[in-house]
Amino acid sequence: MISVNPTSGKTIKSYIEDTEKQVQVKIEKTHNAWLKWKETRFSVRAEFLRNASAVLLKRKTELATLMAKEMGKPLSAGIAEIEKCAGVCDFYASNGANFLKDEIIATEASKSYVSFQPLGVVLAVMPWNFPFWQLFRFLAPALMAGNAGVLKHASNVSGCALAIEEVIKEAGFPKDVFSVLLINSKMVKKAIAHPFIKAVTLTGSTEAGKQVAQQAGFHLKKTVLELGGSDPYLVLADADLEQAAEICMQSRLINNGQSCIAAKRFILVKEIEKDFLKIFIKKMQSKVTGDPLESQTQLGPMARKDLRDELHQQVMDNIKAGAKCVLGGVIPDFKGDHAFYSPTILTGIKKGMPAFEEEIFGPVALVFSAKDEEEAIKIANDSPFGLGAAVFTASQARGEEIASKKLNAGSCFVNSLVKSDSRLPFGGINQSGYGRELSSFGIREFVNIKTVYVK
Ligand code: NDP
Repeated sequence: MISVNPTSGKTIKSYIEDTEKQVQVKIEKTHNAWLKWKETRFSVRAEFLRNASAVLLKRKTELATLMAKEMGKPLSAGIAEIEKCAGVCDFYASNGANFLKDEIIATEASKSYVSFQPLGVVLAVMPWNFPFWQLFRFLAPALMAGNAGVLKHASNVSGCALAIEEVIKEAGFPKDVFSVLLINSKMVKKAIAHPFIKAVTLTGSTEAGKQVAQQAGFHLKKTVLELGGSDPYLVLADADLEQAAEICMQSRLINNGQSCIAAKRFILVKEIEKDFLKIFIKKMQSKVTGDPLESQTQLGPMARKDLRDELHQQVMDNIKAGAKCVLGGVIPDFKGDHAFYSPTILTGIKKGMPAFEEEIFGPVALVFSAKDEEEAIKIANDSPFGLGAAVFTASQARGEEIASKKLNAGSCFVNSLVKSDSRLPFGGINQSGYGRELSSFGIREFVNIKTVYVK
């Protein structure tokens, strides 16, 4: 497995993959560590999580630098990501015990209640786009619930994977309660089959999710899948256009467009289409692109050159199918074997064009025209995905009505970009996956909801 700097194309480091035997040994050791870990009290687990939070904060610049080098995230965004990871550790340290306390249910028994018990070792298959956050939002609740974890991270961010292992070690968690498997995706099948793996969580593409779900299903192991999205942002006739365009730009360019909950489809009602586009184009052009290690950089390269090339091909295919490119659409002429891509806007996207069905994972905005609000909602829901959605309108009540009743997605926001928050459940429907992360819902995904009945 090789980590390549997407700013220069230069190899950072090669990692030797674990053999099948090594994978087995690591899973067994993690299982053995779990046997003791599950007996610990919530207060003990909370203390370790607080330590992890402190270690993350202490090392945030170093960890952000690692992300900048391995997958091109600008330093300031990387630091914010590490702070968010510290936050989710603190959140579950403070709230986990309450989320998992016994629930008494009155029956004819002398005592009957629900008790939430850990399952064992959970396999996490994680992507490169938020190399720390994606993992910590699974790991913090998993550890707090008394589970143990093994991580198969994306092959291009092995350095981040090993750094996470170090953070957990430095926080003082018992040895082997969390460990990293340096394996490619083919070996995942074998890991899933191991009897000590009790469940699997995957964040990544819909294709990867389907394959992992199929393998886990064969072994009757529970999965949580956080997959792709093509989040629609609806701009209604009465919206504050300046504010809507700013939020739309921020959401499209978050992590250089490589986020499952980035805004991907912009559905504009005809009254405001021209005016909105004028502002939006200016905003999409306004970001400082460059080396993610430089402090003024707002947009770095994409995470890998092959992903950038795929994205450019998607842009070309859509132009061929009739879309109009009103901004970007080019690979910038920077030096080195880089993975940069210019912020791009395609207008006139219609059913039948590839972008209508695909996830566009990069700084490319797709603009759809709608004759009115009703049609905008119809277009928004006409997608195989269902992760997030947002609506912009001066009427809070109307916005809420659309968000709560009309849009089909796991998270629907009004006059705001869709974001994950430790306090709120996060996840999708349809091709965006199933199950929830974060909040009280996330920590209950990997537990045995045990009924206890005492006559
Ligand atoms: P993948 O979905 O392929 O990778 C995500 C994780 O899944 C990685 O750890 C990967 O390992 C692993 N994986 C991939 N295929 C399998 C499999 N068959 N069995 C087990 N594990 C597997 O993302 P890519 O890096 O290839 O990116 C491709 C596209 O995926 C993007 O353009 C985007 O559309 C989507 N994506 C969506 C994300 C999201 O958050 N919604 C995040 C990342 C990607 P390995 O790296 O070794 O292949």
